[in-house]
Amino acid sequence: MTARTIGVGLGIAVLGAAALLAWTFTAAPLPAPAPYAGAWPAASPPEGMALLALPTGVTHRSAAFAYRGGSFLDARDFAMTAVLVKHPRGDLLIDTGFGSDVGAALATLPAPFRAITSYTRGEPAARQLEAMDAGRPSAILLTHAHWDHVSGLSDFPRTPVLVTAAEHAFIRGGGVLTAAARLVPDARYREYGFDGGAYLGFPESLDVHGDGSVVIVPAPGHTPGSVAIFVTLPNGQHVVFVGDLVWQREGLTEREERPWLAKVLGDGDPAQVREGILRVSALAQRWPELVLVPAHDARGLDALQQR
Ligand SMILES: [Zn+2]
Ligand SMILES: [Zn+2]
Repeated sequence: MTARTIGVGLGIAVLGAAALLAWTFTAAPLPAPAPYAGAWPAASPPEGMALLALPTGVTHRSAAFAYRGGSFLDARDFAMTAVLVKHPRGDLLIDTGFGSDVGAALATLPAPFRAITSYTRGEPAARQLEAMDAGRPSAILLTHAHWDHVSGLSDFPRTPVLVTAAEHAFIRGGGVLTAAARLVPDARYREYGFDGGAYLGFPESLDVHGDGSVVIVPAPGHTPGSVAIFVTLPNGQHVVFVGDLVWQREGLTEREERPWLAKVLGDGDPAQVREGILRVSALAQRWPELVLVPAHDARGLDALQQR
C-alpha cells in the first residue's frame, strides 16, 4: 500500500466521520404517540397559590445543540431560572438557577465542557427573594442534580433539598456530573419516595401538599433520579416542569431528541429520556393548553409570567 493510497483512505474515513456527525444534527422526529386517553386527575389548589419565575442568568447556546433539526444559526439563550411555587402549606423552590457560586459549580466540570459554555449571570434567586421580602422557601425541589440546577444551594444554607433516592445515590456516587451538588453538605439532601399511584401516564407519583396542586413523577434518563413536576393553579391552568428531559420545547412539540453529541455528554440513559418525551408529548397532544416548561426554555417561563 502506497503512502498515497493510505492518505486517500484516511481522507475518506475523516469525511465519512464528519458526514456521520453532521447527520446526527438533522431532524429525526420520534413517531407521534396516541394522545393521552384518561382525564386530568382531580386537584384543588388553594387561593394564594402562585408561580414565580426567578431568572438568574443564561448560557449561550444554539438550537442545534438542544435538539435534532435545530439550526446552528438559531441562537438560544438557555434560561437558568429558579421557580418559586407559592402554597399556603409551604413555598417550594424548583431548582436554583445560577447562585452566587456559579463559577465554583462550573469549575467542577471537565475542561472541554467549560470551553463550550459561555454564560451571563443575573441576580441569584436568594437575593431576588430577599429583595421582594418573599421569605425563604420551606424546601428546594431539584429536577436533577446537575451544576446549572444546584449552584444556588449554598445561598440557602438552612433549606432542605428534596431529591429522589436514585438522585441522592447519583450525587453520592462521586461522578464528575454531580461534583457541584457535593459542594454542599450531604446532610442537606432529604430523600422522598413516590407513594402515589400512576399519574398522567407516569408509573408513580408524589402529591406534595395532598391537594393535587403539586405532583412529582419520576422522569429518569437524563440523570437516574430526574423528575417532572405537574402544577395546577387556582385558575385551572396546568403546567409541567420537565427539567432537562429536553433542553428546548421543540424536544417535546416536535419530539426531537438531543443530537448524538449532546446525548453522549448529557444523558445517562437516552432510551428512558425517549420514553419521557413520548409520555409528555401524549399529554400535550391531548391538552394543547398544557404549559410545557423545559428548565432552560425561557418561552415556557414567559408563558407562565403572563398568567
Ligand atoms: Zn441537566
Ligand atoms: Zn440543565
